[in-house]
Amino acid sequence: RELPADPVVENYRRQVTGAVYSRVTPTPVSAPQLIMAAQDVADLLDLGADILAQPEFTQVFAGNSLLPGMEPHACCYGGHQFGNWAGQLGDGRAINLGEVINQRGEHWTLQLKGAGPTPYSRTADGLAVLRSSLREFLCSEAMHHLGVPTTRALSLVTTGELVRRDMFYDGNPQWEPGAIVCRVAPGFTRFGNFEIFSARGDIDLLRQLVDFTIRADFPALLEGNTPDKHTYLRWYQDVCKRTAQLMAHWMRVGFVHGVMNTDNMSILGLTIDYGPYGWLEGYDPDWTPNTTDAQGRRYRYGNQPRVALWNLAQLANAIYPLINEVEPLQAGLEYFRAQYEACSQQDMAAKLGLSQFRQETDQPLVESLLAVLQSTEMDMTIFYRRLASIASVDLLDASNEYLLTHFLPACYQTPDATQVAMLRQWLMDYARRIQQDVVMNGWTEVQRCALMNRTNPKYVLRNYMAQQAIDKATQGDYNEVQQLLTLLRNPYDEQPEFDRYFAKRPEWARHKAGCSMLSCSS
Ligand code: AMP
Ligand code: MG
Ligand code: MG
Repeated sequence: RELPADPVVENYRRQVTGAVYSRVTPTPVSAPQLIMAAQDVADLLDLGADILAQPEFTQVFAGNSLLPGMEPHACCYGGHQFGNWAGQLGDGRAINLGEVINQRGEHWTLQLKGAGPTPYSRTADGLAVLRSSLREFLCSEAMHHLGVPTTRALSLVTTGELVRRDMFYDGNPQWEPGAIVCRVAPGFTRFGNFEIFSARGDIDLLRQLVDFTIRADFPALLEGNTPDKHTYLRWYQDVCKRTAQLMAHWMRVGFVHGVMNTDNMSILGLTIDYGPYGWLEGYDPDWTPNTTDAQGRRYRYGNQPRVALWNLAQLANAIYPLINEVEPLQAGLEYFRAQYEACSQQDMAAKLGLSQFRQETDQPLVESLLAVLQSTEMDMTIFYRRLASIASVDLLDASNEYLLTHFLPACYQTPDATQVAMLRQWLMDYARRIQQDVVMNGWTEVQRCALMNRTNPKYVLRNYMAQQAIDKATQGDYNEVQQLLTLLRNPYDEQPEFDRYFAKRPEWARHKAGCSMLSCSS
């Protein structure tokens, strides 16, 4: 095998063979400034507020200096992008600084995003801009507090340098402030890390990486000392399960990732790579925030579970040389289907406040609801919270009134008479279903409401909210960003002081760049 290249003089872009990672050095920046730090993430690393306030903290998380023990490196991975094998991709603008083991014995990897080129940067610059870094910081913290598995964000530093981006692909590149986020996760391994070695026929390296991953990230699966075929299969099944749970979470909160390429699929079932993501406002399974995907809509909201399955099939192909049997891998995919169905039924029951999901009657109830929400372009977040706020007897007595006060104002299109009738019918059916739960299961309205309000967030990071905060931040005013962080730390709580955010997307934001549609790379 080749020896690793010198990290200082040989950071050049290349195909890296025979290695899982390359040592790299972050590129120093001229005027780093700490914009944000998340204390609850720092707590995971046993870092107190005093440390965050030290100038050295900013220097380290800007990539200007290394702490003893840090061994910065970038990982080699490949991936299927939009359904096609793309060859080597790799950490093109991510640099792992190392791993912290905290007092509780947990392992946390620290990763700078935007700290300069690596051997995997291909034709791009290895940098990130403030706009996309804020989007990553805000959304990963929002997701965590929604209870969705995700990478976290420790810090956001501006670099004092300008970065060139062609934001609208109109041939007018702009210079934007550069920034670096430090992401934190138990691990950043992606499906693509395995695919690349399999694609290259480097089965030896593939096996080493799988063994390492199981030892480091899935120790509970190790029965003997040496992983074998059965360990690999248990591991694959575990990945299928985590991925199914992740998809159910995304669907529950209305998150659309936007670029579910296999290089953006975490082996740990975390949400990773916040690019052109978005949040459903009007309920629409066909919606995608990603302009790059506007034609095929491969990564539209309603397609996410199916794409996850497709991606898991690519992972199965990648590890096949270690298994040499098709059936047990197919069983893993079946397991994904079953897990996803179970999770999403449980979630739908909880979203509607049902004590349990009864397949025969509740499946049709859910399907008719989704059809109504879609045809009326109902704001998903507002709908479920308002639904929880009405007692079933009231709904039976006064469905017309609630239609007018609660539901029709949450639609982005004025519904026609048929749609209104469908919605009214559904509300009546729902109210009766709730009353059955009361009579048959002793399930109280208070329990129903509590279950709904801990399943359906009141506040999500609507696309225009992020954009407004970013516009202000670009002018140097971080107040709005801080407010959003505060708001999104308790997304299920009533926070009346923030009720301006419990509102439909304003009409001006429907087609404004950044507020509804985004492109892949920034
Ligand atoms: P993404 O679409 O963000 O998942 O990125 C796909 C690939 O492109 C990954 O290998 C990234 O590391 C790489 N990449 C994205 N943006 C940049 C950039 N500005 N500089 C270098 N590599 C990048
Ligand atoms: Mg990526
Ligand atoms: Mg990205």
